[in-house]
Amino acid sequence: MNIHEYQAKELFRKYGVNVPRGQVAFTADEAVKAAEGLGGPVWVVKAQIHAGGRGKGGGVKVVKSVDEVREKAAAMLGMTLVTHQTGPAGKEVKRLYVEDGCDIARELYLGMLVDRATSRITVMASTEGGVEIEEVAAKTPEKIIRVAIDPVTGLMPYHAREVAFGLGLEGKQVGAAVKFLTAMYECFTKLDASIVEINPLVVTGGGELIALDAKMNFDDNALYRHPDVAEMRDPDEEDPAELEAGKYDLNYVKLDGEIGCMVNGAGLAMATMDIIKLYGSEPANFLDVGGGATKEKVTAAFKIILSDKAVKGILVNIFGGIMRCDIIAEGVIAAAKEVDLSVPLVVRLEGTNVDLGKKILAESGLPILSADNLADAAEKVVKAVKEAA
Ligand code: ADP
Ligand code: MG
Repeated sequence: MNIHEYQAKELFRKYGVNVPRGQVAFTADEAVKAAEGLGGPVWVVKAQIHAGGRGKGGGVKVVKSVDEVREKAAAMLGMTLVTHQTGPAGKEVKRLYVEDGCDIARELYLGMLVDRATSRITVMASTEGGVEIEEVAAKTPEKIIRVAIDPVTGLMPYHAREVAFGLGLEGKQVGAAVKFLTAMYECFTKLDASIVEINPLVVTGGGELIALDAKMNFDDNALYRHPDVAEMRDPDEEDPAELEAGKYDLNYVKLDGEIGCMVNGAGLAMATMDIIKLYGSEPANFLDVGGGATKEKVTAAFKIILSDKAVKGILVNIFGGIMRCDIIAEGVIAAAKEVDLSVPLVVRLEGTNVDLGKKILAESGLPILSADNLADAAEKVVKAVKEAA
């Protein structure tokens, strides 16, 4: 789960990670009140959306008067902000953050993430702050400092010093960096984060270290331990279909293609998406209905797939292991009838009671195309969609 910058900064503050003072605002009046409370003389009005690149897209404005705060806040609220992370559709701005303007001497990058390669939390840092870190990693990987933290010791001062020296920090800044990184690691581990990213981490004119931006991502499976974090969820920032899928315990991710997929098992779902591409089309979603898919789950999954107007055909690819194919076939038929299916549907079943399952599909009277294997299924659905177009 993602949260907004202002929420991440609230958590940072709690753990002693240095951030500027600021206040969230939902209206221009609230923004003005926030600015008056902060006192100025320089403020920054920042659009709160779950995407980076806001600065370049016009979502971060440095201003020098309360009137300007009102003006920028009024202009920003309700605008559709397009950044390289939002996609071309952009995101509507509904919340703002008004914070103290900061005197920036250097912009650095600092992140922590769960690194699967080392099975450890890894600190990533770079002198190239403010820039997209993916670009730095691709073009000048030598400019990224990586320090993996042994979970037994946790983050030790020498880890922090290694990062600080790599960033070219000197004198008192090294001690400040140790304090900063220790607090950040505490915040990361105590809250079961999966990513904490500060881009930029700035060195101020006075030599202080401050997190000017804050991004936090949490391990969904650990959210039950942090009700205060779970409460920070902003449904406006989430895909409605993904929210709906969550209610039925379906793993659904919307994609840009035209073939809706309903599959059991994440590995099989990936293979299904690959083979759709191989046959010249694109998957409209990733959807894993899980091992014990019931008729209700299958119906919900169908409805979610069909709620996507881009879907021009559906491929059901189920391996009946724990589930029996005949039960799946009955579920598919019931769901297809209930949702008034309007696009070609190809079903590939394999596993326990497969013959019975196929017989049930064939005798259903519904225009369901049955497939014998994965390649056959992909070929059939891509062809059916082309013919229907
Ligand atoms: P994003 O990454 O979405 O573009 P940031 O919060 O990183 O948003 O802001 C973009 C840039 O705006 C920063 O790199 C920094 O130069 C400037 N900026 C952001 N917050 C402040 C602030 N409080 N004071 C001064 N400049 C700021
Ligand atoms: Mg940033």
